[in-house]
Amino acid sequence: MNHFELRGGELHCEDVPLARIAAEVGTPVYVYSSATLERHYTVLRDALLAAGLRDPLIAFAVKANSNVAVLRTLGRLGAGADVVSEGEIRRALAAGIPAERIVFSGVGKTEAEVAFALEAGVAEINVESEPELHLVNAVAQGMGKRAEVAIRVNPDVEAGGHAKISTGKAENKFGVSFAEAERLYANASNMAGVRPVGVACHIGSQISDLAPMDAAFRKMRGLVERLRAEGLSVERLDLGGGLGVPYFNQPEPPSPEAYAQMIARAMEGLDIQFAFEPGRMIAANAGVLVAQVLHVNRRPEGRNFLVLDAAMNDLLRPAMYDAYHDIRPMKPREGEPVVYDVVGPVCETGDTFTRDRALPPIEGGDLIAFMSAGAYGAAMASEYNSRLLAPEVLVRGAEYAVVRPRPTYDDMLERERPAPWLTA
Ligand SMILES: *Cc1c(COP(=O)(O)O)cnc(C)c1O
Repeated sequence: MNHFELRGGELHCEDVPLARIAAEVGTPVYVYSSATLERHYTVLRDALLAAGLRDPLIAFAVKANSNVAVLRTLGRLGAGADVVSEGEIRRALAAGIPAERIVFSGVGKTEAEVAFALEAGVAEINVESEPELHLVNAVAQGMGKRAEVAIRVNPDVEAGGHAKISTGKAENKFGVSFAEAERLYANASNMAGVRPVGVACHIGSQISDLAPMDAAFRKMRGLVERLRAEGLSVERLDLGGGLGVPYFNQPEPPSPEAYAQMIARAMEGLDIQFAFEPGRMIAANAGVLVAQVLHVNRRPEGRNFLVLDAAMNDLLRPAMYDAYHDIRPMKPREGEPVVYDVVGPVCETGDTFTRDRALPPIEGGDLIAFMSAGAYGAAMASEYNSRLLAPEVLVRGAEYAVVRPRPTYDDMLERERPAPWLTA
């Protein structure tokens, strides 16, 4: 459930008409609903608690939506942060998320990032390879610290979903095999700069079927038991993120309740602290991208192009993953549906949000919203074509705040420096 709905014929975010935000802030603009973010977090937390999982850490995957106001909204409810760079650690800390609730993941951490994470005191570094384990050990020893690490395992399951967001097959770059994990865990327990506290996995994203997760999680449980049988202490089991969300054209994803119960069954009798790294399921349906139709290009050969002021640089998912976003007019007009190709102004054929989409009739100047754009939307935006980053707005009830303003063209140009030989 989300808080974007038609009221009096006009699309609202909570109690605010989206057209008002478009008029006051301009388009394209990302709009997030606090109530939806909060609801998705609490539904997941309550489902995990109801299933009997002890004290779960829900570390929001910052890469899905890294806006500090969004992070603060979740952090206030008790969320932690799953981060993949120094920048994301800084964002989580800026949002008031305590370091003890920050998990540092990612396949390629630099020495400087590891040092920064240790200085900040993050809860756990998820180590993805043997060289990385040695790096963390060396950096921590140099700082007179002992880093708490989890070994990220690649459970080698097919999670479904798009190839570009599948991470749990042996051929993917993420994590180590089970055999490797056992060896690394034992090695790590003898290193002065690290203390292995757990194991982690994350098998992919937009997963719509519990079976591959169930299979992966049972393998993870087996690993915990083997490590413990060797006399090693394993305190934490991080099961990653990846639960899908409804993008309207897809099979309904499993509910948080079904997900939690599957985990409770797979882990029955295992005494351990669970951690989760959900991104999409919390943020996707909590945000929309509002754009204006610049004009409708009705081609004699029959195609109708809706040309928007938003482009692939603002919302990359359709170009990158062939992702489907529901498109809703702000004030739907009466009349028979019309079939449109919806495109941005960027000079790339990939700058096509969708083809052959039946929508209510639309005219130049109308506003539309891309639904389910709260995850991997603004976070993946770029200035390609020297287009300014779309601003971000957070709604709470009848109020809204611009939480990242649109930069100016001066801001854009001031970031660059002349080469001395070009200025003479
Ligand atoms: C991307 C990612 C997540 C979040 O995935 P979602 O599908 O958004 O839930 C969690 N953990 C890791 C390690 C990731 O790379």
